[in-house]
Amino acid sequence: MVTRTKPIEELRASHKLLAEYQYELRPVVHGYANRTLHINLSNNSIHEEPVSQDMKNIFTGGRGFALRLLWNAINDETKWDDPENALIIANGPICGTTAYPGLGKSTVVTLSPLTHSVIDSNGGGYFAPYLKFSGFDALSIQGKAEEDVIIFIDGDTGRVNIEAAPEESLNTYPLTSILTEMYADNERAKIGISVVSAGQAADHILYAALNLSWYDVRRKESRIKQAARGGAGRVFRDKGIKGIVVRYSSIGGSSNGPANPVLIRKAGKRINKEIATLDESQNQMRNIGTAHLVEIMDHFDLLPINNFRYGAHPEHDKIDSTVWKAAFTQGMVDGCWLGCTMSCSHGVDHFHLVTGPHTGEIVLVDGPEYESAAGLGSNIGVYDPNAIIEMNFYCDTYGVDTISFANSVAFVMECWQYGILDTEKTGGLEMTWGNIDVALELLHQMARGEGFGVLVGQGTRYMKNFFAEEYGADAAFLHDIAMEVKGMEISEYVTKESIAQQGGYGMALKGGQHDEAWLIFMDQVNKQIPTFEDKAEALHYFPMWRTWFSLHGLCKLPWNDIQPENNADTDEPQKVPEHVENYTWVYEGVTGNKVTSDELIAQSERVYNFQRVFNLRMGFGTREHDYMPYRAVGPVTTDEYESRSKRYDTQLQELVGIDPSGLSTEQRISALRKYREAQYDNLVDVVYKRRGWTPNGIPTIETLQTLGIDLPEVVEVVNKALN
Ligand code: SF4
Repeated sequence: MVTRTKPIEELRASHKLLAEYQYELRPVVHGYANRTLHINLSNNSIHEEPVSQDMKNIFTGGRGFALRLLWNAINDETKWDDPENALIIANGPICGTTAYPGLGKSTVVTLSPLTHSVIDSNGGGYFAPYLKFSGFDALSIQGKAEEDVIIFIDGDTGRVNIEAAPEESLNTYPLTSILTEMYADNERAKIGISVVSAGQAADHILYAALNLSWYDVRRKESRIKQAARGGAGRVFRDKGIKGIVVRYSSIGGSSNGPANPVLIRKAGKRINKEIATLDESQNQMRNIGTAHLVEIMDHFDLLPINNFRYGAHPEHDKIDSTVWKAAFTQGMVDGCWLGCTMSCSHGVDHFHLVTGPHTGEIVLVDGPEYESAAGLGSNIGVYDPNAIIEMNFYCDTYGVDTISFANSVAFVMECWQYGILDTEKTGGLEMTWGNIDVALELLHQMARGEGFGVLVGQGTRYMKNFFAEEYGADAAFLHDIAMEVKGMEISEYVTKESIAQQGGYGMALKGGQHDEAWLIFMDQVNKQIPTFEDKAEALHYFPMWRTWFSLHGLCKLPWNDIQPENNADTDEPQKVPEHVENYTWVYEGVTGNKVTSDELIAQSERVYNFQRVFNLRMGFGTREHDYMPYRAVGPVTTDEYESRSKRYDTQLQELVGIDPSGLSTEQRISALRKYREAQYDNLVDVVYKRRGWTPNGIPTIETLQTLGIDLPEVVEVVNKALN
């Protein structure tokens, strides 16, 4: 536990009540609280609104509710830092169930400081279920506080407070620990508290993350998970929020008001048996978690090395699964929601910090997960696990998205290599590959709001424009190597040899994040989707299927990171049909409504297309925004090409029909690029058609009608864009 500066009583006494709202406590009925909570920090108003049946029919819950509330809250001109921008946290009807693994996720939706459009980001921890059990399907916060505030939602007594809170640290680890203790009456009650926080860096950088907590009764410490993508933490701090606390002390099997608990238990029993018997021989999620992917990615040339230039490195074994297994405390129940037998939220106990304000302290570090291990490791040339753990700790405590941070640091390291940056521009920092000291110093500068770190904290899209305009750097080259889509840094997979995954990143609604589609194995490794039509079908089904998790507040990992023994023998093993059936049982068990797997997809299609139109409304959402930097499509530099020249030469010969033998490396790069960019364009055409969109990526009126989202305001936006 990190050291505190003041006793709890002194901190509590410094709070000043700015507003209080009493509400009626009501049970959740079939997965819905049937109310949303609305707070405006500019005037300290608090009110609730009912959830209509229409809202449920069209938007289902979770991300769907959040998008609808945001749409209503803003106007076409609203910017991320305008008071009317809303920060929305939602749960979803299945969220909060404990008899099936992975059912406790929050979905955060807001206008993003990185993309300037709508983003969604999900995270574990107990916040979303407790929000619902306290009375609300979603929390919407608008306005800006004059001084830092804590929002306290008390599901035990039916009360919402806005409290000025001047004394506590902004940083997640100390703040979460303090607030958990402050709002729990005793040690036993701490499990009933969940805290949302950001951190000091969120005052200064755009890709700031939110952390969502739960209390680990075995370690007697607060733990955290992140809703890290898209800069929701920056919006949180721009509104003057220091923390949001929810208290709910009566969690039980019936808290979610299920219609048919027996059906949920039937599904839970089936998957829990698989996890207990098969995890050890499959992905070892209970021992290692997603960090088990490091050596698999390296083996298939997919691990990002030095800003995604290469996909494998001889030193990867210094940061592979054996290292993380040894670092993570084993034999602990490490679920980030109750009842999650997958239990993959591992932590490094007793870690000795060597830099920054907590130097010398011995702390618990949550993670790292794969994205952090690869991003803070190989992608910036670091093969020291302790350095990765230290960076992971400070990213979390300062409220920094590890993926965006990693890609931003990798980008400046490459700019340094090519002489675009020097010590004069970086304030003395030597941005060489693998320079652990400068990577950590950048983080501490972000927290202090000073130096080159603040510039790096604006993200790769901002930096590439800045370096071109201010330093005269080659804008086209910078565009090729800045690993972002729509302004959001892409997550940590090399996509050069998987055009389907290029589409998965490029056409993702919010920017380059794999939680929409992760098709690399189907496409590149297993060759299951050879034609453009196959790829387009996958780029329809899987984004819809994965969207479904965010409508209901679910973790995706128990869907396919554990698989039934006979899964390979099924017609469509990549869909894990038995688990899809489980979800139809869980859905029916919670809501009482019988459902087919196709109807689950239809729920997503409505929300997915609504979000596409939302992007359109904000000035985005058309084809030009669905492209990747070329580094994600093919080799940009001569050393990149030459490092895999046999592969690329063969492709030129066999796919493009060009004999490379008489060509220079630059000419080969150019010929390959022309081919690959044309292929991507073909893919986009076919995907748009499959989705019922125009060649410019706009959902047609017929598509809106078929899906039942031809609401007047939605049709108006589409008509305006079409005409
Ligand atoms: S599978 Fe892992 S990340 Fe997902 S809910 Fe369970 S413990 Fe959390």
